[in-house]
Amino acid sequence: MQMQRRNFLKLGAAMTLTLATERGWAQNAKAEVLWLGQASTRITTLSGKVIVIDPFFTNNPKTPAEWKNLDKLGKVDVILITHGHGDHVGTLGRTDGSSDAAELAKRTGAKVLGPAGLIQTMIDLGWVTGEQGIRFAKGGVVTPAGPQIKITQVRAEHSSEVTIVDPATKKSTSYIGGEPAGFIIEFENGFKLYHMGDTGLFGDMRLIGEYYKPDLVMMPIGGHFVMDPRDAAYATREMLKPRYVIPIHYGTFPVLRGTPQEYRQFLGQTTTQVFPINPGDVLKF
Ligand SMILES: [Zn+2]
Repeated sequence: MQMQRRNFLKLGAAMTLTLATERGWAQNAKAEVLWLGQASTRITTLSGKVIVIDPFFTNNPKTPAEWKNLDKLGKVDVILITHGHGDHVGTLGRTDGSSDAAELAKRTGAKVLGPAGLIQTMIDLGWVTGEQGIRFAKGGVVTPAGPQIKITQVRAEHSSEVTIVDPATKKSTSYIGGEPAGFIIEFENGFKLYHMGDTGLFGDMRLIGEYYKPDLVMMPIGGHFVMDPRDAAYATREMLKPRYVIPIHYGTFPVLRGTPQEYRQFLGQTTTQVFPINPGDVLKF
């Protein structure tokens, strides 16, 4: 009887293991967030899907040297782009007519998703193929990394153009970049990461907080082009009310003056946990 019971237990353990393998992730698996400076982020989901947001590495002053080599990112399944500016598609500092987004897409074969107008421009410029580039818009939910990972495009209060410097003439030309956006990524276990993209404060952050209930927000705090620490604190405390915040989009250039310290001062007593991490740091949720 005891022997049988032991065998049953063994079988039970084996079945749990098989189920976890079949689902592609164990119940205790965690999502990994690697911040690489400015808005650039690499996310590894519970089942090992890799999502890169706003690839700006090669000329990003805050990206650690080892991460400036695009091959270091390894396999990438999906590239998400919030808007067309050079510090998000990675044209900044390049004079070869290309972008980090285009190079990463070519090397990895990843699907590239973002605001419809931006993706169309990327296709027109030959940065991504028509099959790779997937256009969608605010309110749209897509699942390019499999049905268990849902990506929703939401509003951002900003602008969007794609500017390219001609390698020969050094003259710059700007193309339509669609509407700027943020993304809410819901992982296999229901955990929601909200990458806000570049945005000023807007009232519908309250709606986003109430409706989507993000657990972790990657929030711009640098000011000038985006929210400053005071705005970001208001958005956190009064509207989004997330469990966790990673401050981003500060310190990369002199005009992005806001600091995580100021953000925390404006935030005061709160239930939100702030992670003032450095580019190259990894957090698991
Ligand atoms: Zn930006």
